[in-house]
Amino acid sequence: MGFADVLIVGGGHGGAQSALALRQRGFEGRIAVATREGYLPYERPPLSKDYLAGARPLEKMFIRPESFWSDRNIEFLLHTPVVAIEPQLRSAELGDGSRMDYHSLIWSAGGDPRRLSCQGAGLNGVHSIRTVGDVDRIRAQMDGEVKRVAVIGAGYIGLEAAAAFRTLGLPVTVIERMDRVLSRVAGPALSGFYEAEHLRQGVDLLLGHEVAALLGDDAGQVRAVSLDDGSEIEADLVIVGIGIVPAVGPLLAAGAAGTNGVDVDEFCRTSLDDTYAIGDCAAHANPYADNAVIRLESVQNANDMANTVARHLTGEREPYDTVPWFWSNQYDLRLQTVGFSTENDEAVVRGDPDSRSFSIVYLREGRVAALDCVNMTRDYAQGKRLVEARSEPDRDALADPNVALKSLL
Ligand code: FAD
Repeated sequence: MGFADVLIVGGGHGGAQSALALRQRGFEGRIAVATREGYLPYERPPLSKDYLAGARPLEKMFIRPESFWSDRNIEFLLHTPVVAIEPQLRSAELGDGSRMDYHSLIWSAGGDPRRLSCQGAGLNGVHSIRTVGDVDRIRAQMDGEVKRVAVIGAGYIGLEAAAAFRTLGLPVTVIERMDRVLSRVAGPALSGFYEAEHLRQGVDLLLGHEVAALLGDDAGQVRAVSLDDGSEIEADLVIVGIGIVPAVGPLLAAGAAGTNGVDVDEFCRTSLDDTYAIGDCAAHANPYADNAVIRLESVQNANDMANTVARHLTGEREPYDTVPWFWSNQYDLRLQTVGFSTENDEAVVRGDPDSRSFSIVYLREGRVAALDCVNMTRDYAQGKRLVEARSEPDRDALADPNVALKSLL
């Protein structure tokens, strides 16, 4: 039995930033981070990018060196899932049956990859990409012979993985049930741009197709993906990138409110006393989405929610109110987005997409609501301020890439 003033569940982006921000703000109590994985906090984004491509080692992905955490007395319990909590007793049950009592709890457990529910989903060679362990298993399979990769789901992770495999020279088929890539997160123009890019890079792109089953050989190794139209796509390595299921079981079982993840207020408080939730698993009313209750899966959201909780725990009540931003690297394209690029009325393109350096500015009721910037860091940096200010710029000036966005504030 142990006691922590703050028990953090999950040592990913949100967990790491919570501990770090608490110490930065002078919090002196005992901080323990119980995390299921066997590593100190590392950056997750490279998993589907450089780490998958073998271009970045794990040593270069740690958020801070080990000494940083020990110098600040931040204690990590690795390989330690929290399996249940008793909020009235402020006590958590750990995977080995021991308990950790706490004064405040920060739930930052992210999510688990959504699995296919069809036949063959458990065959060897079928992978998801969420942890270092997942990618190490993929790389281990690639150390043998891989003839063809199928990526199921054309969201950011699926497309980044497809790009990494193509960079390594592997044949890749991407299968997506919707009629365009990135449909959940991007407007049609950006989807079209990325579809053209992947086709140019030799990806076989199948849109509007549902997976019916994964087919295996006698040894239990995947050999093909069977589609709803009866066709079969050969693949001996399959990546399933169809989203996550928020990892909130113990919280909901303890009575926390939530359906899609766990519900939090503007200070990231759950409905349970002294229990916060942040990051991918936290459903919150987002001011930049007209206060719609959403979960955001981004490093920005995990870090900024962590900062909100650290402030709250150290006596400063400043609500979570940060403009969302995100990035995605595919081939030599660096996409940076700010705001929400769906649900808008108008999209203004700045620059020529054929030049592989352009931006799309989205307007809602005449105000700048979001930007997607491809190889256009200057627009991203300046456009962020337009989103924050909800500016109403002149359309012609906005469409002219020679007009600096900051001049339209
Ligand atoms: P995580 O970082 O996932 O951390 C949660 C941790 O909690 C995990 O280690 C998990 O094992 C652990 N855990 C779960 N349940 C328990 C339990 N019961 N007890 C103890 N520990 C538990 N975002 C971007 O902004 N840009 C990108 O380019 C980008 N690329 C990405 C690429 C990939 C492949 C992935 C998977 C994500 C990417 N993201 C990106 C999203 C970003 O990484 C997440 O939004 C962020 O990691 C969320 O932080 P978190 O703390 O909520 O969860």
